[in-house]
Amino acid sequence: MATVLSSKACVAQPLKTGTASARRQARVAVVSVSALAQRAEYIWHDGQEGQPIKGAVFNEMRSKTKVIQKPITNFDAAAFPDWSFDGSSTGQAEGKSSDCILRPVCVVPDPIRGGDDVLIMCDVLDPTGAPHPTNTRAKLEAIINDTVKAEAPLFGFEQEYTMLSKGGHVYGWPAGGFPAPQGPFYCGVGPESVYGRDLAEAHMDACIKAGLIISGINAEVMPGQWEFQIGPTGPLETGDQVMIARWLLHRLGEEFGIVSTFAPKPMKGDWNGTGAHTNYSTKSMREDGGMKAIEAAIERLSKCHPEHITQYGTGNEERLTGKHETCDINTFRYGVADRGSSIRIPLPVQLAGKGYLEDRRPAANVDPYTVVRLLIKNTLL
Ligand code: ADP
Ligand code: MN
Ligand code: MN
Ligand code: MN
Ligand code: MN
Repeated sequence: MATVLSSKACVAQPLKTGTASARRQARVAVVSVSALAQRAEYIWHDGQEGQPIKGAVFNEMRSKTKVIQKPITNFDAAAFPDWSFDGSSTGQAEGKSSDCILRPVCVVPDPIRGGDDVLIMCDVLDPTGAPHPTNTRAKLEAIINDTVKAEAPLFGFEQEYTMLSKGGHVYGWPAGGFPAPQGPFYCGVGPESVYGRDLAEAHMDACIKAGLIISGINAEVMPGQWEFQIGPTGPLETGDQVMIARWLLHRLGEEFGIVSTFAPKPMKGDWNGTGAHTNYSTKSMREDGGMKAIEAAIERLSKCHPEHITQYGTGNEERLTGKHETCDINTFRYGVADRGSSIRIPLPVQLAGKGYLEDRRPAANVDPYTVVRLLIKNTLL
């Protein structure tokens, strides 16, 4: 006899009061989810730099949610379990051996969900537990020895980005056209000068609520382009916080219908590119007479320009042209207050005779762990 599929309505029975499940269900009706279980968003970098695919701009961050029944209420990454994901779906593994491991390395409060919920930046490991080739954090961690620690390096990362409408046109630009030429937009105010402030503000607030060391935001030279700064922070902290901040930008973009891209030159022609100036100091640079250490570091950096340039972001040659506040990609030049240099010494630093330097070369899509590693390796080791 053939099996007959059938269905019938299930009428909800009144809860038997007093049972554990009844009490739990009654609570569900009145309290927020985060009081019942903890949602941990496991975040990782897929090793790509934000690729336009079939006309749409996809970004470089991935994440998935783990529900933890008994909330872990400290922010110790080691207290959270490892997890795994399908690396064949993120370009990080072959289908036949597809599992990659996620290891929590940095835990912060989730500013969107609230309560006990957390965001967790993760290291990606291969199935043997070794760092995955896309895991640039492990490469940075490996060079941090006592010499580096003694110099307590600090970084300030100026993350520029460009807002796009879904489909790829710069956000706020006239349909199929261009706004007025550059000039009134940098740090501008008013509806004709600034596009997308709601997202930039929401993102800054989310970073603050997540406990990130964000030091400011500003509208950039090209309308629809913005910047936020992370720092001053230590080496690993800089990378982790930039990654979480990038994830938050994409996540909030879902609410606003705004795509954020880190492409180095999203608009060809007479429009500024998108960079990630990296400000850098060591203990010696910050002490009285630190200018000597700043100059010594620049002297060393001048000898390894190609090594930095090849790892400072794909497509950076379109941005580093010698125009639009950049030095051309094949030249290494430094100067005080010179925004056409590779390395700038800010005027207040020159006046104080101590402080930090600004590496203006990295593109916005650079891997922050990699910039930090190269600066440490080529000035301190
Ligand atoms: P710009 O004038 O280039 O736009 P910003 O104000 O955007 O400069 O960025 C400067 C960055 O430098 C900030 O992120 C700030 O936290 C960082 N910074 C300040 N002092 C130091 C320091 N001693 N070492 C490293 N970074 C620093
Ligand atoms: Mn699945
Ligand atoms: Mn800046
Ligand atoms: Mn800027
Ligand atoms: Mn700058």
